[in-house]
Amino acid sequence: MHLIKDCPIIITKAAFKAEEFIRKKIELFTKDCDPFYAVDLEDICNKHVRWLTAMPRVTPHYAVKCNDDILVLKLLGFLGAGFDCASKTEIKKIIDLGISSDRIIYANPCKQSSYVRYAKQVGVETMTFDNEQELMKIKENYSDAKVVLRIVTDDSSAVCQFSMKFGADLETARFLLEKAKEIELDVIGVSFHCGSGQMTSQAFVDAIKNARSIMSYGDKLGFDMKLLDIGGGFPGNTGTDEYFTEIAVAINRALDEHFPVQSGVRIIAEPGRYYVASAYTLATNIIATREMTDPATNEKKLMYYVNDGVYGSFNCVLYDHYIPEPTPLKKDISGKQYTCSIWGPTCDGLDCITSSTCLPKLTTDDWIIWKNMGAYTISGAVQFNGIPFGKPLYFMAKPFWDNVKQAFEQRPVQYTRALKYRMNSECGNEVEDEMLPWEDLEDSILPS
Ligand code: PLP
Repeated sequence: MHLIKDCPIIITKAAFKAEEFIRKKIELFTKDCDPFYAVDLEDICNKHVRWLTAMPRVTPHYAVKCNDDILVLKLLGFLGAGFDCASKTEIKKIIDLGISSDRIIYANPCKQSSYVRYAKQVGVETMTFDNEQELMKIKENYSDAKVVLRIVTDDSSAVCQFSMKFGADLETARFLLEKAKEIELDVIGVSFHCGSGQMTSQAFVDAIKNARSIMSYGDKLGFDMKLLDIGGGFPGNTGTDEYFTEIAVAINRALDEHFPVQSGVRIIAEPGRYYVASAYTLATNIIATREMTDPATNEKKLMYYVNDGVYGSFNCVLYDHYIPEPTPLKKDISGKQYTCSIWGPTCDGLDCITSSTCLPKLTTDDWIIWKNMGAYTISGAVQFNGIPFGKPLYFMAKPFWDNVKQAFEQRPVQYTRALKYRMNSECGNEVEDEMLPWEDLEDSILPS
């Protein structure tokens, strides 16, 4: 493997596991102890292929909020995904990549008026709503918009629930359709979100059935209801394949029952964590340690302080109910295990990543890695106390990248625009717009 200092994308000769990649990076640049992410781009590509295989009828619109890393957006744009944006800034990010506005759904049911006007300006016409005031706002600011009615779901078995904040119940949904008819706003479909970290496929099945009932009512009122958006909530951590398949099978069955292909309804989804969670492994360095004795039990306890915390990447502990799992990087971890707590680098007592876990004795300058750190981490991080959070370092094996580009070379027109976008503009290389991303990558990143 060749690593180029400060270059964020590494095309490796052979496949690497994130952990090996991290070891290599540390070995080569030992003095640089800043936290960093090993981002496995192959993992993201594999997720996309798995999605298309498991739910061929459902076009993914990646939820930008989950991780707005520009390279992830470029890669998914290149692979042909659509995008779920929640704000003007997110829309702009996608538009600035040259991705066409019809691949974007503005999926925030409560929007600032000026953002609606911005959506109009850049041609993002599909947007969600779930209440009468929002309907009037959209009518006033973008009367030609194609609106999608978000209905409530039973998300009680999800880790992060939204139904207390968003979604019209079925009675209100019917009223909203009548209202939209009255003010002549075009409702084209229904959306829902079963909650992030959804633990049961039944929630999707029930929501699809409810969507059918509301869309039939809309059709009766004279709307042409041709879009169903089944939201996000799909698992993305390593080891969740079986569960993802179970959800996909249930969704496919419900779609075939309520929205058969002949219905002509286009189905989209808004997966976030599914795409990125497992691709990101965070490496943190132990910057300080403390030992203490529990006065009640006389047990020796260890405290480790690492250089990324809850104000940075681990904001997911506070906002995403996430329980991150530490793994020491050093190979020999046999021997006595201690009860430990792991703390972030700021001066705040709240900056605790995990209050109790079991680890061997580690020392300052040892590394701890954290898998499944791609979702709701970077996008919510700030540099509190002036301390930067982990920076991404991307890797992909060249043989795999060759396969990806071959597969997509065979795809016609819809990809040609996306193909033009440069994957490595982060590197600050001047490249012609016409250059394909892989040429770009190979020419400028692969050392000769
Ligand atoms: N769509 C909407 C409207 C959301 O609010 C969210 C998450 O907050 C998502 C999609 C992505 O959800 P997930 O990451 O669980 O797939």
